[in-house]
Amino acid sequence: MTQSERHLVTGGAGFLGSHLIDKLMFKGHEVLCVDNFYTGSKKNIAKWIDNKNFELIRHDVTKSLLVEVDKIWHLACPASPVHYQNNPIKTAKTSFMGTYNMLGLAKRTKAKILYTSTSEVYGDPAVHPQPETYRGSVNPIGIRSCYDEGKRIGETLCFDYHRMHSTEIRVARIFNTYGPRMLPNDGRVVSNFIVQALKGNSLTVYGDGSQSRSFCFVDDLINGLELLMQSDYKGPLNLGNNHEFTILELAEKIIRKINSDLRIIFKTLPEDDPLQRKPLLNRAFEEINWEPKINLDEGLDKTIDYFKNI
Ligand code: NAD
Ligand code: UDP
Repeated sequence: MTQSERHLVTGGAGFLGSHLIDKLMFKGHEVLCVDNFYTGSKKNIAKWIDNKNFELIRHDVTKSLLVEVDKIWHLACPASPVHYQNNPIKTAKTSFMGTYNMLGLAKRTKAKILYTSTSEVYGDPAVHPQPETYRGSVNPIGIRSCYDEGKRIGETLCFDYHRMHSTEIRVARIFNTYGPRMLPNDGRVVSNFIVQALKGNSLTVYGDGSQSRSFCFVDDLINGLELLMQSDYKGPLNLGNNHEFTILELAEKIIRKINSDLRIIFKTLPEDDPLQRKPLLNRAFEEINWEPKINLDEGLDKTIDYFKNI
């Protein structure tokens, strides 16, 4: 990447997008941040507002966008089940129309486009851990479908643009990532548990807590996205951490770190909540020489510090 490159980051005011923008700005690139502020916050990018290399546009990616760019990082889409299920039709529209519009922009400007897909394309996986070759087990009509199927059609569009128009695509399948700048009301499990614990409340475990996830710290993830964009590999590529924990183990860990007097309360498991999830990362290591470096304890400590200070 050279200094003169112009990078468009959709969803740039969100959790991952704002960390990516920090990285691009520190490297001296020009950055255009596009966001409709559904789950993003101006605070996340406030420090760049007066920088001559930075531009912010309030824009919804379901509408077309006419700009000139060299690289497109397409992240715009709510990622937390609470927020993507709030208006599922809009989530599906953002996934399809948003990705279609950004691919159209990539085609016209000949920009390379990186699409942030998700481990949700594997659904409630029957294969464990999940390799990129696994085609998934997704319910097409459930409450998570707007997001899961939305991301699947997003991937389809990327590969069809590549086949039909030679668009330079990079597709990342991101597994549960956490860290500073998640919204306190984001609704995802790590921020929920930390915020509950810091307020002295009980932690809400859905179901019996035996379902598993593998949690990746944001800095590792952003490094992976950057390497994927720079590489010749179009994907799909799993990016995440491959150390698996049950949700009960996560709750107990956070209680030990914040206040061991706190209790756990069990609530109903949401419909179609995947029972297990862990990425196979061989391909990421082979194709982009990437593996996560930050373990859960270290990442949780940094995240807890962040929430203590806001
Ligand atoms: P986030 O909700 O913090 O950020 C999403 C951003 O997109 C927000 O700033 C939001 O306002 C913006 N946005 C949503 N709809 C938009 C629209 N129609 N037009 C313009 N902007 C819009 O979520 P995140 O965790 O930062 O996730 C970023 C991307 O990474 C998403 O595409 C998500 O699906 C993907 N992803 C994230 C994770 C994770 O664990 N964090 C896992 C898998 C995939
Ligand atoms: N979860 C929980 N309590 C919460 C929030 C989430 O037990 O307060 C569970 C949720 O049911 C799921 C897991 O934690 O099994 C991860 O949920 P999250 O919303 O973070 O992401 P998902 O991987 O389900 O998209």
